[in-house]
Amino acid sequence: MLQLTELESLPEGFFALKNPRELHTLLPNPTLLHLEGRREPRLFISVLLHGNEDTGFFAIQQLLHKYQSQPLPRSLSVFFGNIEAATFGLRRLEGQPDYNRVWPSTELEDCEETHLMQQVTDIMASKGMFASIDVHNNTGKNPHYGCVNVLDNRSLQLARLFANIVVYFETPRGVQSMAMAQHCPAITIECGKPGVAHGVEHVLEFLDAALHLQELPDHPLPAHDINIYQTVARVTLPENHTFSFNDPAADIHLLPALDQYNFSELPAGTAFASTTHPTARLHAWDDENVEVGEHFFTRDHSSIRLKQALMPAMLTLDEIIIRQDCLCYLMKRLPLDSAP
Ligand SMILES: [Zn+2]
Repeated sequence: MLQLTELESLPEGFFALKNPRELHTLLPNPTLLHLEGRREPRLFISVLLHGNEDTGFFAIQQLLHKYQSQPLPRSLSVFFGNIEAATFGLRRLEGQPDYNRVWPSTELEDCEETHLMQQVTDIMASKGMFASIDVHNNTGKNPHYGCVNVLDNRSLQLARLFANIVVYFETPRGVQSMAMAQHCPAITIECGKPGVAHGVEHVLEFLDAALHLQELPDHPLPAHDINIYQTVARVTLPENHTFSFNDPAADIHLLPALDQYNFSELPAGTAFASTTHPTARLHAWDDENVEVGEHFFTRDHSSIRLKQALMPAMLTLDEIIIRQDCLCYLMKRLPLDSAP
């Protein structure tokens, strides 16, 4: 039975933990920690919704260490999500749903995890939130960027405090930032690969700055100050074809170093893969989960190429992640005047 633990102080030994694999020794359950600070309402931060994404954990450990002997500038609640998967250094365990697809607005069936996230959302909504930040890592070569699910000025201002690249997306549903956006400015931050020290430093600085904010301005950012991209499709490999970066026997050969394309605005005609298989292609899924690959990719002899100018994000070279999740997202630059 999945149980939420709520705490009003840090457990003894928290600062001695060497990594999130050890967190279960102090916190065996998903845990919501409430700490009091000088200002209200509180900042909400979630970490380890994906158990292998350690940057948020280390940033929180260092942040709380800094405020051990001085009051927090603002009250703070921290949610430690998939501690069980973190024990094994995995995104999620076999049989678990993805902890960032089970928040209110999810399309998944009711389960223990959807109830847990509903409970966390209800508790936080009743306490009141200044803003919400969900901290993630990804696997390919990506810059640091923020994500929003609502184009409101205060969320964009918060995202801009972290990076000048912001991604706006409406699917997948059931993510933390989409649920919290009903209650306060809410963002997801993507902090590059796990286990990188400068990633932790950047997140620590950002979280500390967010704690010090007196308010989030409700005016638009100047157009030159921010790049907003909208996700238009999610790219997957067809289930009935094998694929590889280096196995010549596979049906579809993905180009090596494809992850160099992340966050580059690519012209139409850019090659992604090659194949000699007559029916092999890449799939692309829109926000309604309709397969629209023909719209984004074209087959030119043995080459699979972009049909229009687009920017990919989260391209990864990890074949397991590609099968479990996706190859990448395709994005278009959003003209800022379409934002409020
Ligand atoms: Zn993640």
